[in-house]
Amino acid sequence: MTTTILDKLIARAETGLSEGAICSDDLKQPTWSLDAEDGQKALPAYGAGASQWDKAPAATPLQRQIPARYRQMERTELDRRIRSAKEALGERLVILGHHYQRDEIIQYADLRGDSFKLSQQAASRPNAEYIVFCGVHFMAESADILSGSTQQVILPNLAAGCSMADMANLDDVLDCWDTLGRIFGTNSADAGKQPVLPVTYMNSAANLKAFCGEQNGIVCTSSNAEAVLKWAFERGERVLFFPDQHLGRNTGVKLGISEAEMVIWDPTKPLGGNTLAQLQRAKIILWRGWCSVHQRFNVAQIEKARKDYPGVRVVVHPECPLEVVQAADEAGSTEYIIQAVEAAPAGTILAIGTEVNLVRRLQAEHPDKKIFCLDPVICPCSTMYRIHPAYLAWVLEGLLEGQVLNQVKVDPKVSHFARIALSRMLAIK
Ligand code: SF4
Repeated sequence: MTTTILDKLIARAETGLSEGAICSDDLKQPTWSLDAEDGQKALPAYGAGASQWDKAPAATPLQRQIPARYRQMERTELDRRIRSAKEALGERLVILGHHYQRDEIIQYADLRGDSFKLSQQAASRPNAEYIVFCGVHFMAESADILSGSTQQVILPNLAAGCSMADMANLDDVLDCWDTLGRIFGTNSADAGKQPVLPVTYMNSAANLKAFCGEQNGIVCTSSNAEAVLKWAFERGERVLFFPDQHLGRNTGVKLGISEAEMVIWDPTKPLGGNTLAQLQRAKIILWRGWCSVHQRFNVAQIEKARKDYPGVRVVVHPECPLEVVQAADEAGSTEYIIQAVEAAPAGTILAIGTEVNLVRRLQAEHPDKKIFCLDPVICPCSTMYRIHPAYLAWVLEGLLEGQVLNQVKVDPKVSHFARIALSRMLAIK
Protein backbone atom coordinates (compact mmCIF):
# COMPACT_ATOMS: atom_id res chain seq x y z
CA MET A 1 0.00 0.00 0.00
CA THR A 2 1.45 3.38 -0.95
CA THR A 3 1.15 6.21 1.52
CA THR A 4 -1.49 8.94 1.64
CA ILE A 5 -0.96 12.65 2.28
CA LEU A 6 -2.01 12.26 5.90
CA ASP A 7 0.32 9.26 6.19
CA LYS A 8 3.13 11.49 4.94
CA LEU A 9 2.27 14.22 7.43
CA ILE A 10 2.30 11.67 10.19
CA ALA A 11 5.64 10.33 9.03
CA ARG A 12 7.07 13.86 8.84
CA ALA A 13 5.84 14.59 12.35
CA GLU A 14 7.58 11.49 13.62
CA THR A 15 10.91 12.56 12.16
CA GLY A 16 10.49 16.14 13.35
CA LEU A 17 10.20 17.51 9.80
CA SER A 18 6.70 18.88 10.34
CA GLU A 19 5.67 21.58 12.79
CA GLY A 20 3.20 19.16 14.33
CA ALA A 21 3.33 16.02 16.39
CA ILE A 22 0.62 13.37 16.12
CA CYS A 23 -1.88 12.86 18.92
CA SER A 24 -1.63 9.10 18.82
CA ASP A 25 0.79 6.46 17.63
CA ASP A 26 -2.27 4.47 16.55
CA LEU A 27 -2.46 6.77 13.53
CA LYS A 28 0.48 4.79 12.18
CA GLN A 29 -1.66 1.64 12.07
CA PRO A 30 -3.70 0.80 8.97
CA THR A 31 -7.27 2.13 9.15
CA TRP A 32 -8.69 -1.40 9.22
CA SER A 33 -6.69 -2.50 12.24
CA LEU A 34 -9.79 -1.74 14.36
CA ASP A 35 -12.32 -3.45 12.12
CA ALA A 36 -14.18 -6.28 13.79
CA GLU A 37 -13.16 -9.84 13.19
CA ASP A 38 -15.74 -12.61 12.90
CA GLY A 39 -17.62 -13.05 16.16
CA GLN A 40 -16.36 -9.80 17.70
CA LYS A 41 -19.23 -8.00 19.42
CA ALA A 42 -17.88 -4.64 20.47
CA LEU A 43 -15.54 -2.07 19.04
CA PRO A 44 -12.51 -1.51 21.22
CA ALA A 45 -12.59 2.22 20.40
CA TYR A 46 -13.48 4.76 17.75
CA GLY A 47 -10.05 4.42 16.19
CA ALA A 48 -7.02 6.63 15.96
CA GLY A 49 -7.49 10.38 16.34
CA ALA A 50 -9.22 12.94 18.51
CA SER A 51 -12.02 10.78 19.92
CA GLN A 52 -10.11 7.57 20.48
CA TRP A 53 -10.27 7.99 24.25
CA ASP A 54 -14.03 8.53 24.23
CA LYS A 55 -16.09 5.56 25.31
CA ALA A 56 -17.69 3.90 22.30
CA PRO A 57 -21.16 2.60 23.26
CA ALA A 58 -21.80 -1.12 22.80
CA ALA A 59 -24.45 -0.30 20.18
CA THR A 60 -21.95 1.51 17.93
CA PRO A 61 -22.11 -0.19 14.51
CA LEU A 62 -19.21 -2.50 13.73
CA GLN A 63 -17.31 -2.64 10.48
CA ARG A 64 -16.43 -6.20 9.55
CA GLN A 65 -13.06 -6.69 7.93
CA ILE A 66 -13.20 -6.05 4.22
CA PRO A 67 -11.65 -8.65 1.88
CA ALA A 68 -7.87 -8.88 2.20
CA ARG A 69 -7.34 -8.02 -1.46
CA TYR A 70 -8.67 -4.47 -0.80
CA ARG A 71 -6.55 -4.08 2.33
CA GLN A 72 -3.46 -5.12 0.42
CA MET A 73 -4.10 -3.18 -2.77
CA GLU A 74 -1.65 -0.54 -3.91
CA ARG A 75 -3.01 3.01 -3.82
CA THR A 76 -2.69 3.32 -7.60
CA GLU A 77 -4.77 0.18 -8.08
CA LEU A 78 -7.45 1.44 -5.67
CA ASP A 79 -7.51 4.72 -7.58
CA ARG A 80 -7.91 2.93 -10.92
CA ARG A 81 -10.74 0.76 -9.57
CA ILE A 82 -12.62 3.64 -7.91
CA ARG A 83 -12.47 5.75 -11.05
CA SER A 84 -13.49 2.85 -13.26
CA ALA A 85 -16.46 1.95 -10.99
CA LYS A 86 -17.56 5.59 -10.88
CA GLU A 87 -17.50 5.77 -14.66
CA ALA A 88 -19.43 2.51 -15.05
CA LEU A 89 -22.11 3.58 -12.54
CA GLY A 90 -22.42 7.06 -14.10
CA GLU A 91 -25.54 9.01 -13.08
CA ARG A 92 -26.75 6.11 -10.93
CA LEU A 93 -24.15 7.07 -8.34
CA VAL A 94 -23.37 10.20 -6.37
CA ILE A 95 -20.45 10.34 -3.95
CA LEU A 96 -20.72 12.88 -1.14
CA GLY A 97 -17.59 14.05 0.68
CA HIS A 98 -17.70 15.84 4.03
CA HIS A 99 -15.11 18.61 4.46
CA TYR A 100 -13.37 16.63 7.22
CA GLN A 101 -12.59 13.70 4.95
CA ARG A 102 -8.99 13.15 3.98
CA ASP A 103 -7.84 14.40 0.53
CA GLU A 104 -7.49 10.83 -0.68
CA ILE A 105 -11.28 10.53 -0.40
CA ILE A 106 -12.38 14.08 -1.23
CA GLN A 107 -10.85 13.75 -4.70
CA TYR A 108 -13.61 11.26 -5.63
CA ALA A 109 -16.50 13.32 -4.21
CA ASP A 110 -19.06 14.64 -6.70
CA LEU A 111 -20.27 17.04 -4.03
CA ARG A 112 -18.46 18.49 -1.03
CA GLY A 113 -20.05 20.15 1.96
CA ASP A 114 -21.06 19.99 5.57
CA SER A 115 -23.49 17.35 6.72
CA PHE A 116 -26.74 19.16 6.08
CA LYS A 117 -25.74 20.73 2.77
CA LEU A 118 -24.67 17.32 1.48
CA SER A 119 -27.96 15.68 2.48
CA GLN A 120 -29.89 18.42 0.72
CA GLN A 121 -27.71 18.12 -2.37
CA ALA A 122 -28.22 14.37 -2.41
CA ALA A 123 -31.97 14.95 -2.44
CA SER A 124 -31.51 17.14 -5.51
CA ARG A 125 -30.02 14.21 -7.47
CA PRO A 126 -33.11 12.01 -7.94
CA ASN A 127 -31.42 10.01 -10.71
CA ALA A 128 -28.80 8.72 -8.31
CA GLU A 129 -29.89 5.28 -7.13
CA TYR A 130 -26.87 5.07 -4.85
CA ILE A 131 -25.70 7.80 -2.51
CA VAL A 132 -22.27 6.92 -1.13
CA PHE A 133 -21.74 9.17 1.88
CA CYS A 134 -18.08 9.67 2.76
CA GLY A 135 -18.76 11.10 6.21
CA VAL A 136 -20.15 9.62 9.41
CA HIS A 137 -23.19 7.59 10.43
CA PHE A 138 -25.65 10.34 11.44
CA MET A 139 -24.97 12.07 8.12
CA ALA A 140 -25.82 8.93 6.17
CA GLU A 141 -29.03 8.66 8.22
CA SER A 142 -29.95 12.26 7.40
CA ALA A 143 -29.29 11.60 3.71
CA ASP A 144 -31.58 8.57 3.88
CA ILE A 145 -34.31 10.65 5.59
CA LEU A 146 -34.10 13.46 3.03
CA SER A 147 -33.58 11.39 -0.12
CA GLY A 148 -36.16 9.65 -2.27
CA SER A 149 -37.65 6.26 -1.42
CA THR A 150 -35.84 4.56 -4.31
CA GLN A 151 -32.42 5.90 -3.35
CA GLN A 152 -30.07 3.83 -1.23
CA VAL A 153 -27.51 5.41 1.08
CA ILE A 154 -24.18 3.70 1.70
CA LEU A 155 -21.57 4.45 4.37
CA PRO A 156 -18.26 2.93 3.18
CA ASN A 157 -17.17 2.11 6.75
CA LEU A 158 -19.98 1.43 9.22
CA ALA A 159 -17.70 2.18 12.18
CA ALA A 160 -17.47 5.79 11.01
CA GLY A 161 -19.80 7.06 13.70
CA CYS A 162 -19.52 10.30 15.65
CA SER A 163 -18.42 10.22 19.28
CA MET A 164 -20.40 13.39 20.00
CA ALA A 165 -23.61 12.00 18.51
CA ASP A 166 -23.07 8.82 20.55
CA MET A 167 -22.97 10.83 23.80
CA ALA A 168 -26.76 11.19 23.68
CA ASN A 169 -28.86 8.08 23.16
CA LEU A 170 -32.63 7.81 23.08
CA ASP A 171 -32.99 5.90 26.37
CA ASP A 172 -31.03 8.52 28.31
CA VAL A 173 -32.87 11.38 26.63
CA LEU A 174 -36.23 9.76 27.44
CA ASP A 175 -35.19 9.36 31.10
CA CYS A 176 -34.20 13.02 31.19
CA TRP A 177 -37.48 13.99 29.49
CA ASP A 178 -39.51 12.06 32.09
CA THR A 179 -37.65 13.74 34.95
CA LEU A 180 -38.14 17.19 33.42
CA GLY A 181 -41.81 16.35 32.87
CA ARG A 182 -42.20 15.52 36.56
CA ILE A 183 -40.53 18.80 37.55
CA PHE A 184 -42.13 21.18 35.10
CA GLY A 185 -45.37 19.35 34.30
CA THR A 186 -47.10 19.63 30.98
CA ASN A 187 -48.83 22.95 31.50
CA SER A 188 -46.82 26.06 31.05
CA ALA A 189 -46.87 29.05 33.38
CA ASP A 190 -46.51 31.11 30.22
CA ALA A 191 -49.71 30.56 28.23
CA GLY A 192 -49.21 28.93 24.86
CA LYS A 193 -45.69 27.76 25.61
CA GLN A 194 -44.47 24.25 26.26
CA PRO A 195 -42.57 23.96 29.61
CA VAL A 196 -39.54 22.36 27.90
CA LEU A 197 -38.83 22.24 24.18
CA PRO A 198 -36.25 19.79 22.80
CA VAL A 199 -33.65 20.95 20.27
CA THR A 200 -31.17 18.54 18.77
CA TYR A 201 -28.07 19.38 16.83
CA MET A 202 -27.81 17.87 13.35
CA ASN A 203 -25.00 15.73 14.79
CA SER A 204 -27.33 13.26 16.48
CA ALA A 205 -28.91 9.91 15.75
CA ALA A 206 -32.06 9.82 13.63
CA ASN A 207 -34.17 8.57 16.57
CA LEU A 208 -33.30 11.73 18.53
CA LYS A 209 -34.35 13.91 15.60
CA ALA A 210 -37.57 11.89 15.55
CA PHE A 211 -38.02 12.44 19.30
CA CYS A 212 -37.80 16.20 18.65
CA GLY A 213 -40.25 15.88 15.77
CA GLU A 214 -42.77 14.14 18.06
CA GLN A 215 -42.31 16.56 20.98
CA ASN A 216 -42.81 19.81 19.03
CA GLY A 217 -39.05 20.26 18.90
CA ILE A 218 -36.61 20.97 16.14
CA VAL A 219 -33.15 20.30 14.67
CA CYS A 220 -30.40 22.90 14.30
CA THR A 221 -27.09 23.13 12.51
CA SER A 222 -24.07 25.19 13.52
CA SER A 223 -25.14 27.76 10.88
CA ASN A 224 -28.66 28.34 12.14
CA ALA A 225 -28.49 27.52 15.88
CA GLU A 226 -29.23 31.14 16.85
CA ALA A 227 -32.37 31.39 14.70
CA VAL A 228 -33.51 27.93 15.84
CA LEU A 229 -33.10 28.81 19.53
CA LYS A 230 -35.11 32.01 19.00
CA TRP A 231 -37.82 29.89 17.37
CA ALA A 232 -37.68 27.48 20.30
CA PHE A 233 -38.03 30.23 22.91
CA GLU A 234 -41.11 31.56 21.12
CA ARG A 235 -42.69 28.16 21.77
CA GLY A 236 -41.04 26.90 24.93
CA GLU A 237 -40.23 28.31 28.35
CA ARG A 238 -36.91 26.49 28.43
CA VAL A 239 -34.89 24.35 26.03
CA LEU A 240 -33.33 20.93 26.36
CA PHE A 241 -30.38 21.07 23.95
CA PHE A 242 -28.41 17.97 22.89
CA PRO A 243 -25.89 16.54 22.31
CA ASP A 244 -23.30 19.36 22.05
CA GLN A 245 -23.10 21.48 25.19
CA HIS A 246 -20.67 23.91 23.55
CA LEU A 247 -22.82 24.83 20.57
CA GLY A 248 -25.77 25.22 22.95
CA ARG A 249 -23.84 27.38 25.41
CA ASN A 250 -22.18 29.54 22.74
CA THR A 251 -25.54 30.16 21.11
CA GLY A 252 -27.25 30.86 24.44
CA VAL A 253 -24.61 33.47 25.32
CA LYS A 254 -25.12 35.09 21.89
CA LEU A 255 -28.80 35.39 22.72
CA GLY A 256 -28.02 37.11 26.02
CA ILE A 257 -28.65 34.11 28.27
CA SER A 258 -26.24 34.11 31.20
CA GLU A 259 -24.12 31.09 32.08
CA ALA A 260 -26.00 30.87 35.40
CA GLU A 261 -29.18 30.24 33.37
CA MET A 262 -27.62 27.25 31.61
CA VAL A 263 -27.01 23.92 33.35
CA ILE A 264 -25.33 20.72 32.22
CA TRP A 265 -27.38 17.52 32.20
CA ASP A 266 -25.19 14.54 33.02
CA PRO A 267 -27.29 11.45 32.20
CA THR A 268 -25.39 9.31 34.72
CA LYS A 269 -26.47 11.43 37.72
CA PRO A 270 -29.81 12.05 39.49
CA LEU A 271 -31.41 15.26 38.18
CA GLY A 272 -28.56 15.34 35.67
CA GLY A 273 -26.20 16.39 38.47
CA ASN A 274 -28.25 19.50 39.33
CA THR A 275 -30.32 20.71 42.24
CA LEU A 276 -33.99 21.34 41.74
CA ALA A 277 -33.38 25.07 42.18
CA GLN A 278 -30.71 25.07 39.45
CA LEU A 279 -33.05 23.33 37.04
CA GLN A 280 -35.90 25.70 37.88
CA ARG A 281 -33.64 28.66 37.11
CA ALA A 282 -32.34 27.23 33.85
CA LYS A 283 -33.32 28.61 30.46
CA ILE A 284 -31.21 26.03 28.64
CA ILE A 285 -30.47 22.50 29.83
CA LEU A 286 -27.32 21.45 28.00
CA TRP A 287 -26.62 17.78 27.42
CA ARG A 288 -23.17 16.70 28.60
CA GLY A 289 -21.74 16.10 25.13
CA TRP A 290 -18.85 17.49 23.15
CA CYS A 291 -16.83 17.07 20.00
CA SER A 292 -13.41 15.72 20.85
CA VAL A 293 -11.92 17.41 17.79
CA HIS A 294 -13.12 20.91 18.72
CA GLN A 295 -12.56 20.41 22.43
CA ARG A 296 -8.81 20.26 21.71
CA PHE A 297 -8.69 24.01 21.04
CA ASN A 298 -7.80 26.33 23.91
CA VAL A 299 -7.12 29.97 24.73
CA ALA A 300 -3.34 29.42 25.10
CA GLN A 301 -3.20 28.37 21.42
CA ILE A 302 -4.94 31.60 20.44
CA GLU A 303 -2.61 33.69 22.59
CA LYS A 304 0.40 31.98 20.98
CA ALA A 305 -0.97 32.57 17.47
CA ARG A 306 -1.46 36.28 18.28
CA LYS A 307 2.06 36.52 19.70
CA ASP A 308 3.70 34.69 16.78
CA TYR A 309 1.62 36.43 14.09
CA PRO A 310 0.50 39.94 15.08
CA GLY A 311 -2.64 40.79 13.11
CA VAL A 312 -3.67 37.14 12.76
CA ARG A 313 -7.38 36.52 12.29
CA VAL A 314 -8.62 33.69 14.50
CA VAL A 315 -11.68 31.81 13.25
CA VAL A 316 -13.07 28.87 15.21
CA HIS A 317 -16.02 26.49 15.05
CA PRO A 318 -18.84 26.97 17.62
CA GLU A 319 -18.32 23.40 18.86
CA CYS A 320 -15.25 24.86 20.63
CA PRO A 321 -15.58 25.76 24.35
CA LEU A 322 -17.03 29.21 25.18
CA GLU A 323 -13.72 30.72 26.33
CA VAL A 324 -12.14 29.77 22.99
CA VAL A 325 -15.02 31.28 21.00
CA GLN A 326 -14.77 34.44 23.10
CA ALA A 327 -10.99 34.70 22.59
CA ALA A 328 -11.32 34.21 18.82
CA ASP A 329 -12.18 36.95 16.34
CA GLU A 330 -15.02 34.98 14.79
CA ALA A 331 -16.84 31.71 15.22
CA GLY A 332 -18.89 29.96 12.59
CA SER A 333 -19.82 26.70 10.93
CA THR A 334 -17.55 24.79 8.59
CA GLU A 335 -19.14 26.55 5.62
CA TYR A 336 -18.64 29.91 7.37
CA ILE A 337 -14.95 29.14 7.90
CA ILE A 338 -14.48 28.19 4.24
CA GLN A 339 -16.20 31.37 3.07
CA ALA A 340 -14.17 33.50 5.51
CA VAL A 341 -10.95 32.07 4.06
CA GLU A 342 -12.13 32.51 0.46
CA ALA A 343 -13.18 36.12 1.04
CA ALA A 344 -10.01 37.13 2.90
CA PRO A 345 -7.59 39.28 0.87
CA ALA A 346 -4.24 37.85 -0.22
CA GLY A 347 -1.65 38.07 2.53
CA THR A 348 -4.18 37.51 5.34
CA ILE A 349 -2.97 35.34 8.18
CA LEU A 350 -5.67 32.99 9.48
CA ALA A 351 -5.50 30.66 12.46
CA ILE A 352 -8.32 28.15 12.23
CA GLY A 353 -9.92 26.11 14.98
CA THR A 354 -11.46 23.15 13.22
CA GLU A 355 -10.63 19.66 11.90
CA VAL A 356 -7.12 19.34 10.50
CA ASN A 357 -8.05 17.80 7.13
CA LEU A 358 -10.12 20.87 6.23
CA VAL A 359 -7.44 23.27 7.46
CA ARG A 360 -4.73 21.49 5.44
CA ARG A 361 -6.94 21.62 2.34
CA LEU A 362 -7.63 25.33 2.81
CA GLN A 363 -3.87 25.86 3.15
CA ALA A 364 -3.23 24.06 -0.13
CA GLU A 365 -6.05 25.84 -1.97
CA HIS A 366 -5.05 29.35 -0.83
CA PRO A 367 -1.28 29.65 -1.19
CA ASP A 368 -1.61 33.46 -1.24
CA LYS A 369 -2.67 33.41 2.45
CA LYS A 370 -1.00 32.07 5.56
CA ILE A 371 -3.42 29.53 7.03
CA PHE A 372 -2.69 27.23 9.92
CA CYS A 373 -4.48 25.08 12.45
CA LEU A 374 -4.55 26.50 15.99
CA ASP A 375 -3.74 23.04 17.31
CA PRO A 376 -0.11 22.25 16.47
CA VAL A 377 -0.79 18.53 16.96
CA ILE A 378 -2.05 16.50 14.00
CA CYS A 379 -5.17 14.91 15.38
CA PRO A 380 -7.91 14.15 12.85
CA CYS A 381 -11.48 13.19 13.68
CA SER A 382 -11.13 9.49 14.52
CA THR A 383 -14.33 8.45 12.83
CA MET A 384 -13.99 10.52 9.65
CA TYR A 385 -10.54 8.91 9.45
CA ARG A 386 -12.13 5.46 9.25
CA ILE A 387 -13.09 6.09 5.60
CA HIS A 388 -10.17 5.04 3.44
CA PRO A 389 -10.08 4.48 -0.35
CA ALA A 390 -10.00 0.69 0.24
CA TYR A 391 -13.57 0.81 1.69
CA LEU A 392 -14.74 3.09 -1.10
CA ALA A 393 -13.39 0.69 -3.75
CA TRP A 394 -15.03 -2.22 -1.91
CA VAL A 395 -18.55 -0.67 -1.79
CA LEU A 396 -18.36 0.65 -5.38
CA GLU A 397 -17.26 -2.68 -6.80
CA GLY A 398 -20.03 -4.28 -4.73
CA LEU A 399 -22.53 -2.08 -6.57
CA LEU A 400 -21.09 -3.17 -9.92
CA GLU A 401 -21.71 -6.76 -8.86
CA GLY A 402 -25.29 -5.91 -7.81
CA GLN A 403 -24.56 -5.94 -4.06
CA VAL A 404 -25.46 -2.99 -1.85
CA LEU A 405 -22.90 -3.15 0.97
CA ASN A 406 -23.14 -1.06 4.16
CA GLN A 407 -26.56 0.44 3.44
CA VAL A 408 -27.83 2.85 6.12
CA LYS A 409 -31.60 2.63 6.33
CA VAL A 410 -33.67 4.55 8.85
CA ASP A 411 -36.87 2.98 10.18
CA PRO A 412 -39.87 4.57 8.34
CA LYS A 413 -41.58 5.82 11.53
CA VAL A 414 -38.32 7.34 12.80
CA SER A 415 -37.75 8.85 9.38
CA HIS A 416 -41.26 10.38 9.35
CA PHE A 417 -40.86 12.21 12.68
CA ALA A 418 -37.24 13.17 12.02
CA ARG A 419 -38.36 14.77 8.76
CA ILE A 420 -40.91 16.83 10.72
CA ALA A 421 -38.16 18.20 12.98
CA LEU A 422 -35.96 18.91 9.95
CA SER A 423 -38.83 20.61 8.09
CA ARG A 424 -39.42 22.95 11.04
CA MET A 425 -35.78 23.94 10.81
CA LEU A 426 -35.96 24.47 7.05
CA ALA A 427 -39.02 26.69 7.44
CA ILE A 428 -36.97 29.16 9.55
CA LYS A 429 -35.54 31.90 7.40
S1 SF4 B 1 -15.60 16.26 14.04
FE1 SF4 B 1 -16.63 15.95 16.01
S2 SF4 B 1 -18.81 16.24 15.59
FE2 SF4 B 1 -17.76 15.95 13.60
S3 SF4 B 1 -17.91 13.74 13.20
FE3 SF4 B 1 -15.96 14.06 14.25
S4 SF4 B 1 -16.44 13.75 16.44
FE4 SF4 B 1 -18.39 14.04 15.37
